Amino acid sequence: MTYLAGALGLAKLILLILAGLAVYLVLKNYKRRVNHNGGKASRGDETMVRCAECGVHHPRSESLLAAGKFYCSAEHQRRANHGG
Ligand SMILES: [Zn+2]
Repeated sequence: MTYLAGALGLAKLILLILAGLAVYLVLKNYKRRVNHNGGKASRGDETMVRCAECGVHHPRSESLLAAGKFYCSAEHQRRANHGG
């Protein structure tokens, strides 16, 4: 039964190599993803929009949308509508 034992050993070795390769690829992808997002500070996938009046960037959820333009506050929205 030495042939069977040898075949089982070889199968185990191949499985071990494949597992190691899979771990290596996962870690490589993970590192690249971390580096890709490392530069910019962003909370989740919140979209940043620019105030049409003062030009300051704000999270979209905290901005006011009027006539297709974003404003950081109701005051700036009023100011833009009144033309300065
Ligand atoms: Zn503003």
